[in-house]
Amino acid sequence: MTLDAAWARRWMTQAAAALADAKDDLTELDRQIGDADHGVNLDRGFRAVVAKLEATPAPDDETVGAVLKLVATTLMSTVGGASGPLYGTAFLRAARVTDRAHLDPPAVIALLEAALEGITARGHATVGEKTMVDAWQPAADAAAAADEGTTREVLAAAARAADAGATATIPLVATKGRASYLGERSAGHEDPGARSTAILLATAVAAVEEP
Ligand SMILES: [Mg+2]
Repeated sequence: MTLDAAWARRWMTQAAAALADAKDDLTELDRQIGDADHGVNLDRGFRAVVAKLEATPAPDDETVGAVLKLVATTLMSTVGGASGPLYGTAFLRAARVTDRAHLDPPAVIALLEAALEGITARGHATVGEKTMVDAWQPAADAAAAADEGTTREVLAAAARAADAGATATIPLVATKGRASYLGERSAGHEDPGARSTAILLATAVAAVEEP
């Protein structure tokens, strides 16, 4: 079972639908500890991604990386706030290591690690600071630990870890990003970027077609 450009396109369609469904919840999380724009920003960005993909016919030799690069440039130009450059950089770095027709398990691990590296290079956050890194880091770690599995199993392990990582941000006090201005009052709220990361990775799994 391998993942190809058609999978990457299905991933983005499903991500856009899931983020549209979660728009109000993400905005409410961001209202509690940020500036209440995360849901709206991501909904706008991923709608634009789907529109861009639909307007860009897939060549027969389309690579996964070509799809992810299109995603990156679209997110960077349409998503405001901190999350646009962070997600944009994540997809741009992921695109660089996926310039091939099919991803095997090591390539899926490389995709996740490259995305994480892009986010940490751009945002300078580390685990425990109540940011999207608290979902991406455990996701990349879990993927690497599941390297004996199928591509779907590797992705599923990453998605489960991202979900748990997002939930685990609730008690944390933010020390990076806008939520850090709240200090101790940021505790008791889930980080919206960590939650949107979990949603994004869940749809990566859902987009895998069963053989
Ligand atoms: Mg915000």
